[in-house]
Amino acid sequence: MSIENMFSLKGKTALVTGARTGIGQAIAVGLAQAGANLILLGHRDNMQETSQLVSEAGVKSQTVLLDLSKPDKVAPFCQDLLAEHRVDILVNNAGIIRREPAVDFSYDNWESVIDTNLNALFVLSQHIAKPMLERGYGKIINIASLLSFQGGITVPSYAASKHAVAGLTKALANEWAQKGIQVNAIAPGYISTNNTQALRENEERNAAILSRIPTGRWGEPDDLAGAAVFLASPASNYVNGHVLVVDGGWMAR
Ligand code: NAP
Repeated sequence: MSIENMFSLKGKTALVTGARTGIGQAIAVGLAQAGANLILLGHRDNMQETSQLVSEAGVKSQTVLLDLSKPDKVAPFCQDLLAEHRVDILVNNAGIIRREPAVDFSYDNWESVIDTNLNALFVLSQHIAKPMLERGYGKIINIASLLSFQGGITVPSYAASKHAVAGLTKALANEWAQKGIQVNAIAPGYISTNNTQALRENEERNAAILSRIPTGRWGEPDDLAGAAVFLASPASNYVNGHVLVVDGGWMAR
């Protein structure tokens, strides 16, 4: 296979969760530019901006709505979706963060983060993987975090959920590798999105974060697109259960 074909997603369909903004939007556009048709999953509106950017790449796209904070809604959603669509690539990107000192952390902030970042991701992967397993082809990319390796500060449910996402990535990869499905994760560093707005607005935390990043800048959502295309394409056919850190060097310090 030529290198060009190795990275091509032509004829494939990718489902990207949390595609309205930030990293999910950039990954959706990257996959579209590599030739994939897109199913954009959001929970609030029809993701006009992402739809527009994806269609500029000349591929087909459609939007679907599902509230991932309600994991029990995922199975019926998948049944309807899979009746109409083949999904070759699943990007589990949607995620939330809640900040509070651990001792006062509300159970709501624990449960909503675990439900959205972990429980829904598991059930969605399970259901989308079923037809992939039958076809013997599929790519699943989970968006992990540096807090898949570190504890963070005042974000206990987020750190727990992202450690679990890294573990689940390996667990699913082990079971499904022989069936032609690669399950991998991307651990973004500090990326300038809604998710990190509070950190960037906190002068002290912002300076501390920047001083530790060897590249000396926050990442941009586009910095993740190439890694996602790699993990979605045949170029990664022998990459299984890997958590690919894209962090401007943070973990190297
Ligand atoms: P973001 O702009 O806030 O994106 C999060 C996405 O998830 C949004 O599109 C959001 O939709 C969607 N979402 C939230 N709750 C949902 C729900 N209940 N159902 C369906 N979709 C839901 O932040 P981001 O930084 O791009 O985050 C994307 C992923 O990267 C997350 O998993 C995050 O943990 C991870 N990550 C981010 C960083 C970083 O530095 N930014 C670092 C490591 C990992 P709405 O906007 O419509 O609510």
